[in-house]
Amino acid sequence: MNAEILSVGTEILLGNIVNTNAAYLSEQCALLGLSVYHQEVVGDNAGRLSEAIARALSSSDILIITGGLGPTTDDLTKETASALMGFALVEDKKAREMLEERMRAYLGNDSHRRLTANNYKQALVPEGATVLYNQNGTAPGIIMEKEGKTCILLPGPPGEMIPMFKDQVFPFLREKLPEVIVSRMVKISGIGESQVAADIDDLISAQQNPTIAPYAKTGEVHLRVTAKGRSEEECRELIAPTLGELTRRFGSFIFATDEAVTLEAAVLDMLKKRGLTLSTAESLTGGALSSRLVSVPGASQVFACGYVTYSNEAKASALGVSPDTLERFGAVSAECAREMAEGACASSGTDAAISTTGFAGPAAPSDNHPVGTVYMACAIRGKVTVREYHFKGNRNRIRESTVSHALSFLRECLLESN
Ligand code: ATP
Ligand code: MG
Repeated sequence: MNAEILSVGTEILLGNIVNTNAAYLSEQCALLGLSVYHQEVVGDNAGRLSEAIARALSSSDILIITGGLGPTTDDLTKETASALMGFALVEDKKAREMLEERMRAYLGNDSHRRLTANNYKQALVPEGATVLYNQNGTAPGIIMEKEGKTCILLPGPPGEMIPMFKDQVFPFLREKLPEVIVSRMVKISGIGESQVAADIDDLISAQQNPTIAPYAKTGEVHLRVTAKGRSEEECRELIAPTLGELTRRFGSFIFATDEAVTLEAAVLDMLKKRGLTLSTAESLTGGALSSRLVSVPGASQVFACGYVTYSNEAKASALGVSPDTLERFGAVSAECAREMAEGACASSGTDAAISTTGFAGPAAPSDNHPVGTVYMACAIRGKVTVREYHFKGNRNRIRESTVSHALSFLRECLLESN
C-alpha cells in the first residue's frame, strides 16, 4: 500500500516553520512498510486544498493530512476533506465535552473570555468517521474511510500530532496492513560511513527480505534492518541471520541493536559495568560533552564532574596543566590534552577522564594548526591514550563532531582496557 503526506499551512510555504510533521510521518510510514511516493505542502486556501486532496486520493491508498484543524476561519482542512469525500459534519458529544473541559481549565473564571461558535466548530466531525480524541489540544483528529481510500486528518502542532499518531493512528494502520513490519537498528561507532558501506556492499546488493538501510549520524553509523512477514515472529526469524552477520562483521564496533539506546547511554553503561567513575575536561566543547552524558537518566552513578577550562589559566589552575606545556606546545596539543585528562582524574578522584582541546574556528590560528584540529585524551586508571582529529565544517559542526567522537573514542579505550 502507498501513502501520501499533505501538510497544510501558509506558514510552511512561506518558510516560517519547518515541515517537521512530514519528516516524522514519512519515517513512521517507512516503519509500517507503507511506500510514500509523494509529499505536498498547500497553503490555507480552500480551492487549492481541495485540489490537492483530490489529487492525492486518486493516486494513494492512504492520505495523511496535518494542520488546519483549529478553530479559526483559515483552518479549513476538516470542512474541505469531508466535503470532498462526501461526509456530513455532525457534532460529536465526547469531543464537545472534552473541548468544554479543556476550555474551562484554560479560561478559568475569567468572565470576559468565553467559548465562541468558532471553538465549537472543533467538536464537529464527519458522520461515520473514526474520531481521534486529542489529549493534548482541542481539535480531534479524524479517520475517514471510503471506497478503499483512507484519509487521516491530524492537528498541526507536533505536540498534539505525534502522540495522536503514536497512540491511535499507528495501531490503526498496523492493523489495516496485510503485512507486519519489524525493524532493528544496528548502531555502530568507531568506523566511518564509507567503510561500513564498503563492508556490507555484498549484503546490500543481495538484499531482499530483510533490507538493510544505512543512516550516517555524526560519529555514528546506523543500519536499519527491516523485515516484512505475516507475523512479528516470522519477521524476527528473518532478521536474525542478518543481525548475526552484521555482528560477525562489525563486532565490538556495534554499541547497540536497540533504537532507543544512544551512544552516551552505551558508554555510561560500560563504565558502570566496570565500576568506573568518569570526569570530563573540556575546552572547545564548552560543556557539551558533559551535557550529552547527563542527558542519560542515571548518569550520576558514573559521571562525577565536568571541568570547562577554556583559558590557559583555567587549564593550569583547575587541572594542573603545566605552564611549561602550555608555553612549549600550546593549549591545542597532544601534551595539553593528556595533562587535562590526567588532571581531571586527579582533581575529581575519578577512575577515568576524557579531555577535548582544539580549534573550532572560524579564524585559523596558524598554517600548522588548521581549523578543525582537535586533540582528545582518555585516561583510564592511569593509562592515557591521546588522539589527534581533523574535523570539517563550521564552528558548531566541529564542536558537535568533537563531542560525538569523544564518546566513540572513550568507548574504544574502554574496550581496549578490558
Ligand atoms: P491550531 O489549533 O493550533 O490552529 P491546527 O491543526 O489548525 O492547530 P495549524 O494552524 O495548521 O494547525 O498549525 C498550528 C501550528 O502547528 C503552527 O503554527 C506550527 O507551529 C505547527 N505546525 C503546523 N504544521 C506543521 C508542520 N507541518 N510541521 C511542523 N509544525 C507544524
Ligand atoms: Mg490553525
